[in-house]
Amino acid sequence: MPERLPFSRPVPSRRPCLTAVLRMAGLRPTRQRVALAELLYGGPHRHVSAEELHAESLGAKVNVSLATVYNTLHQFQQAGLLREVAIDASRSYFDTDTSDHHHFYLEDEQRVVDIPANSIAITGLPDAPRGMEITHVDVVVRVKRLR
Ligand SMILES: [Zn+2]
Repeated sequence: MPERLPFSRPVPSRRPCLTAVLRMAGLRPTRQRVALAELLYGGPHRHVSAEELHAESLGAKVNVSLATVYNTLHQFQQAGLLREVAIDASRSYFDTDTSDHHHFYLEDEQRVVDIPANSIAITGLPDAPRGMEITHVDVVVRVKRLR
């Protein structure tokens, strides 16, 4: 067990780092973008819907509209900072882990859980249409509790 320090050192803010990440992704680090990035990247990797992030932002006294949250999530996604996991036409989650992997969708809980990329083997894919290449394959495996 590591010994506890007799005093607590201030935790360095992630804000300068996130500002740099946004700049490198080609996004101007506005106050709202940095605040939403802090909520998104402040902990371990996760999957979040726009509605959930909007509720979190209000709880954290970050005053943004749901439309701004939507726009920002899509800007982050287009800049490669997030991956969109589309469940159906009206439901999307945004994944802070942009590496190749797949997902379980827990229908009862409306929650997305990771499946490691190497635990699914995909064979028999058709050729991409002429002049195109396959960039990646997203698998969403829908599950529900046994009754
Ligand atoms: Zn994921």
